[in-house]
Amino acid sequence: MAAIGFDIGTTRCKASFVDETGRAQIVPNRRGDLFTPSAIFFEDGKRPIVGVEALAEGFLQPEHVHTCFKRVLGSQEALYADADGKTYTAMDFQTILIKAIKEDVEARLNEAVDEAVITVPANFKDHKKQATIDAAKAAGIKTLKLLHEPTAAGIAHALDKKQDQCVVVYDLGGGTFDVSVLETKGDEITVLTSTGREKLGGEDFNARIETYVVELFAAENHYTPTLEADPMFFSELAEKAEQAKVALSDKTTTRIVIGCRGQQSIVEITREKFQELTKDLLQDTVDCTCEAIAETGKTWSDIDVILLVGGAVRMPAVETALADVSGISPRMNVEPDRAVCYGAALQCAIELEAMGKAVTIGGRAIPTPNVLVREVTTHGVGCCVVAKDGTLSNAIILPKGTAIPTTKTDRFALQFDAQTEARVEVLQGEEGQARNACLSIGCVELANLPPQQRPSKRIEVTYAIDHNGMITARGHDLIGGDQVEIRIDYSKGVEESGVSQTAA
Ligand code: AMP
Repeated sequence: MAAIGFDIGTTRCKASFVDETGRAQIVPNRRGDLFTPSAIFFEDGKRPIVGVEALAEGFLQPEHVHTCFKRVLGSQEALYADADGKTYTAMDFQTILIKAIKEDVEARLNEAVDEAVITVPANFKDHKKQATIDAAKAAGIKTLKLLHEPTAAGIAHALDKKQDQCVVVYDLGGGTFDVSVLETKGDEITVLTSTGREKLGGEDFNARIETYVVELFAAENHYTPTLEADPMFFSELAEKAEQAKVALSDKTTTRIVIGCRGQQSIVEITREKFQELTKDLLQDTVDCTCEAIAETGKTWSDIDVILLVGGAVRMPAVETALADVSGISPRMNVEPDRAVCYGAALQCAIELEAMGKAVTIGGRAIPTPNVLVREVTTHGVGCCVVAKDGTLSNAIILPKGTAIPTTKTDRFALQFDAQTEARVEVLQGEEGQARNACLSIGCVELANLPPQQRPSKRIEVTYAIDHNGMITARGHDLIGGDQVEIRIDYSKGVEESGVSQTAA
């Protein structure tokens, strides 16, 4: 069975496999491209179109193309309804993407693919991880493991370098920013912390160029285009802003020529101007990196390597900002936009071997990588408590940074002697955070409890976090003996926003 990794990004998807030498390689898609844009175009009555063709179709009909939906994965909101009234959530879109990538891989490798390791941002909460597993399942893929993106890049790096190091993985992709601090020692990788910004990536840098161009266009032509009135202007601008950003990684000046309603502007953008427009975004990633290092109790002097990962690290300002704050020259040892996907395939080989399955490619056995990864939780897990003033907040049971998999048991007393029901709501979030700002995982509910003579801590709740970082819990009434599993309910999660329904 081939060892396959999927990196289903906010703006681009990649798939990889482990070759006969034991190294990971990208599987080109059916067009021969190494990356497939995370874009879907719908046309009534027809199979959805995915990737470059979806963006091309969407150029003329921007209202029919969907991009950046990974940003709202886990939300129940319907993003599209077809002519038959069938509605699609972000998870349904992910299913369409994964299915298209799976089919491309199967065609290239000439074998069926039904198991893989899938990467996710380190910061993903449980409902988004569950939506990823469900989307893959609906696409015909069993997720052997959900691997945090910076950890995946760390695996690719560690297997490449084979040195004892303390590594900061700085991962700026299309839609998310992740940073991990990890230690590599012999065949072991220990993740000390992972954190990030769920909605900060290359797309946000493009958006700054777009806003700048709209302002200049409006000043020059005395007309301000709007998304509602001028959708084609914005789909053209999105494409040109992306091209301008990429161009500014190589040269110091570029131009955007853009027209709307018979008027045209030529906007010159220098690298300096672009860096000024996006300074705060970059600073946010640097601050987040410094916070991650502080969380581990280390300082920059303890760090051996800064590993740059994700397509957006090709912006020269990233390297400069990190070198300035750390005194270290960041490295791109493995191709920055492939490292995550490479790590996923390598981890898949490890998982398959651990399951006793033969890891092969084209029928030939491959050498499996030998590495043990120790992961940590990227969010705390607690239970909802009521303060005297009635406010609801999170009381931490398993703090962020706990090594996984893990379990922890806690005991609670009932509030009243005559109480016959108990309900513990499990929250994913940090200590003291308001209930509404946390993700409600669900409730452990015990009913028909035998009344109690004297108060005691009779309700035992066991929290478990598995190797994917996913949470379960079970309750046990120590007096009556009843045991229940948590009822998971992701419909009341934190508020979501930021999906784009136009070509990006
Ligand atoms: P990834 O999620 O790793 O595939 O990264 C995708 C992001 O990298 C997108 O926002 C791209 O615009 C960005 N990107 C790719 N190449 C470059 C480049 N040469 N300069 C700046 N950004 C880039």
